[in-house]
Amino acid sequence: MISKKSLSLLFFFALTATFAQKPKTSAIPSTLAKPKLVVGIVVDQMRYDYLYRYYDKYTNGGFKRLMNEGFNCRNNHYDYAPTVTAAGHAAIFTGSVPAIDGIIGNEWYDQKNSRSVYCVEDSTVKTVGANSKAGLMSPKNLLVSTITDQLKIANAHQSKTIGIALKDRGAILPAGHTANAAYWFDSKDGSWITSSFYMNDLPQWVKDFNAKKMPLKYMSEGWKTLLPVEQYTESSADNQPSEGKLAGETNPVFPHELVARAGVNLLEVVRTTPFGNTLTKDFALAALQNENLGKGSKTDFLTVSFSSTDYVGHAFGPNSIEVEDTYLRLDKDIAEMLTTLDKTLGKNNYLVFLSADHGVADIPGFWQSNKLPAGVFDRSKALSEIKVALKAAFGEGDFVKSEDNSQLYLNHVLLSEKKLSFSQVYEVVRTTLLKHDEIADVVDLHNLANTTLPNYQLNFIKNGYNPKRSGDISIVLNPSWFIGSKTGTTHGTLYRYDTHVPLLFYGWGVKTGETTERTNISDIATTLADILSILEPNGSVGGVISGVKR
Ligand code: ZN
Ligand code: ZN
Repeated sequence: MISKKSLSLLFFFALTATFAQKPKTSAIPSTLAKPKLVVGIVVDQMRYDYLYRYYDKYTNGGFKRLMNEGFNCRNNHYDYAPTVTAAGHAAIFTGSVPAIDGIIGNEWYDQKNSRSVYCVEDSTVKTVGANSKAGLMSPKNLLVSTITDQLKIANAHQSKTIGIALKDRGAILPAGHTANAAYWFDSKDGSWITSSFYMNDLPQWVKDFNAKKMPLKYMSEGWKTLLPVEQYTESSADNQPSEGKLAGETNPVFPHELVARAGVNLLEVVRTTPFGNTLTKDFALAALQNENLGKGSKTDFLTVSFSSTDYVGHAFGPNSIEVEDTYLRLDKDIAEMLTTLDKTLGKNNYLVFLSADHGVADIPGFWQSNKLPAGVFDRSKALSEIKVALKAAFGEGDFVKSEDNSQLYLNHVLLSEKKLSFSQVYEVVRTTLLKHDEIADVVDLHNLANTTLPNYQLNFIKNGYNPKRSGDISIVLNPSWFIGSKTGTTHGTLYRYDTHVPLLFYGWGVKTGETTERTNISDIATTLADILSILEPNGSVGGVISGVKR
């Protein structure tokens, strides 16, 4: 019989033998592993359900590859309103919220200078690449750093960072303050341009790309459906009364001819076709090649935002064949990007993530056809009612300076002249607006402690409120109403159709899997910072999503 003591001794020797065979030190890597390139893809206006709605028709190489070989955060949301393009791009790359990063909308009213401000405007710079004002842009209104900034700061600018999108704000905000370049599309002559914030002359490869005049070539055959039109069973029949039309068209139907007509700039129309995305993909791959992205000693970062999904979505709505066709084509563009990255850098050497800057509402006319109470709110009628009520209560005066992002900007000078408090004016506005069935609530942004909004919604308002840039009173409409035009649709609310967007991580350092835990947009930059072992952006409020990192 072996005694208990000798058994434990045996066990001890066995243990030490194991340790002797495997010295602990051999597992310590001498250098920190990093990916060659990070590619951040934003699909403008992509609701999360589009991953699944068109799933059966996607190829194996695009969305399906990212979903099945990468990590899928199925329950990923914005946590602020207004959910619009500039705010979304800023939040994805800063891990922050408009309250802190300052990008509260695509534009806002500047009380100090009594004028509207565009999110990326900058009158101190020059357009590079065209004779237009489309390049008077920079990230100077973004108050915080981006993950792309942090990457460059972490290694004394040895990383190369480039932002690309048809929309200026979709290229500029992701690329950050320290970017090597941001390029966007100028519809005036169909070129990719930039601003003197980044450089004083376009690189030769960009000039060569522009010289090919790709936009008109793509459009020369018109826009026909990729598959036979009867196979688009996920969408409503073509030609719905609430669909918008492309400039110069008489009906919103396939095939869209895209021919030059008097007063129609086809170089503008290209944005509202899937060819705008294909053009973006081509330009992104040209940047990859010509800038040798991923070939340096440090991790590079390419941001690509596909804007055409938003233009097409606004015009035709989520249930249109046009939107479905745009996604089927985008899937092929993404598949081509991935195979090119495989060939250029090797399959597991790059990291990709994909998300969206906001979702979108169904067209109110579509909701009505599904028996829901829905409609378009008459903004100008409501504004004139407010003015009449304020005049009756407080006498003559221009009380409302502006309305932006569903917020009223009051005339602060007039209020102090008349010795009126915000709350006095607010009460009159609230009583006037609440008479409308389509309005859910009217919120005094100076007194959020006093609102009866559910906490879930209150947090969205707080996260979206910046005292220097936001308005004074916020108008919250019922879920199936919006301020917009009679055809097409929009986004910007705190409701799920606007907040629930895809989030996919794929490639270097990423596990295969998925989670239904709620994740927030602000978690993207912090999760990337963790994977890249760098400091988070300076305004970030997000957490690290567990399970993503291998
Ligand atoms: Zn957008
Ligand atoms: Zn939009």
